[in-house]
Amino acid sequence: MSLYQVPPPEEVEPFSALQATRRRLTLWLAALSAIACMLVWCYDGAHGLNSAWATVAVPIIASGLVLGGLVIWLRPPWHNQAAALCNASVATYFIGSLITTTEAGGPDGLYEVASNAQFMPLLYLAAFVTMTKGAARLSWLTYVATALSYLWLYGADGAPGGDHIGHFWFMLLITHPIFILALSYVSVLHTRLKSAEVEVHTSRERFLAMLSHEIRTPLQGMLGSIDLLDLRVHGGGERRAVDRLRQIANQLTAHLRDLTEYTRMDNPAWRLQPEWIDLASLVEDICDEHLPRIRAKGLNLLVEVDDAPGLREVEIDPQRVRQVLDNLLNNALKYTPHGQITVRLAPQAAPPRATGAPQPPWLQLEVIDTGVGIATEAMPRIFEPYVRLEDRKLPRTEGSGLGLAVVRRLIDRLGGQMAVESAPDRGSRFVVCLPVHPTPPQSAAGNLERPAQTEPQ
Ligand code: ADP
Repeated sequence: MSLYQVPPPEEVEPFSALQATRRRLTLWLAALSAIACMLVWCYDGAHGLNSAWATVAVPIIASGLVLGGLVIWLRPPWHNQAAALCNASVATYFIGSLITTTEAGGPDGLYEVASNAQFMPLLYLAAFVTMTKGAARLSWLTYVATALSYLWLYGADGAPGGDHIGHFWFMLLITHPIFILALSYVSVLHTRLKSAEVEVHTSRERFLAMLSHEIRTPLQGMLGSIDLLDLRVHGGGERRAVDRLRQIANQLTAHLRDLTEYTRMDNPAWRLQPEWIDLASLVEDICDEHLPRIRAKGLNLLVEVDDAPGLREVEIDPQRVRQVLDNLLNNALKYTPHGQITVRLAPQAAPPRATGAPQPPWLQLEVIDTGVGIATEAMPRIFEPYVRLEDRKLPRTEGSGLGLAVVRRLIDRLGGQMAVESAPDRGSRFVVCLPVHPTPPQSAAGNLERPAQTEPQ
């Protein structure tokens, strides 16, 4: 039997991943800028090129950048404030440099002003790239501080004609609003694109929900009529026809559910709905629901649920767990011509975390069958959407090829992991590991307040 550890699905980068990328970028920018500042400062210092302002300000700015980077690293939720601190420190340095070099004047002063001023548009860009909000406000504040410095240096009449440094300041004050406005426009476009994307997903979801409702209602009617018909048929042939009808109606219902859920999960607004539930009972109930069909096919069902109290009251999304187990059981039933299906639920040790941070306990859910099995080279493909394996020794089975793709996405969203162990003709074992939040013992005793529900992921 070969074991395949299912990797997380490759998806369009979700918003949380984008945030993580932005955080990493800010961290790198802060670290590299701090190193660059200090290298230039040491080099210029050794050659006597540092101005009085640079001698004092550069180490302070570098410390601000290091501090900002550390905050982003250790306290990711404070990312925006830390990025603002980094950007504001660098802006302070540049404005201070412009003022001191203007005061020094002369050709060297002009060179200094020109070389410092060229970085200011980059500063606006850095604010828009690294900050999640408030970048435009910080950029305008920087601009206002620059304009006030100009007024302070030259007064309300402005720089006299022929003053090259003054002329440079003037150009700088004229061009900077254009940079800030252009960046604000790009940022607004980005926000609009994001909300348009959510809107597209929402309307597609609404359409699918409406469609699936319209199809599901007559399907339920059909299933009811099939049950009635079942009571009246006598002959073996008629009964087989009724069973086939029921099977098709059930399959249609399952396909509709998979299709709706798979499409829904594309929506960035998709959320888990965790509840405090008795997970062990949920698993037993789901198995009971499948039992008649399993028996009708002549198979055995073995359910082994560990009676650890940690599985009796846990915080998890019950609908999504149900969908995972339903799909795995449906497959086990479809692809097992004879033998047994086993469902196991047990607590499991949490996988070690690189940071060493405390981990919630995990559980392990297994669905094992004695069916046709899966070839090693086919294992990575079966988790792709709309992929079904052909050339089976079984009579043609119905399916959309979405079942395992939905399971893989759900497990990823539930923060879990999945593996499959199988070999042709030797059955399959699907193993799902999920993190859970068990109820603290006091709460289970019933006389203490229940802990607040954690934020859905
Ligand atoms: P469907 O069952 O609708 O075809 P799935 O995504 O659930 O779609 O499964 C993809 C493929 O993986 C199936 O077509 C089948 O070939 C294979 N498969 C899934 N579960 C099992 C199993 N328990 N035993 C053998 N093959 C399986």
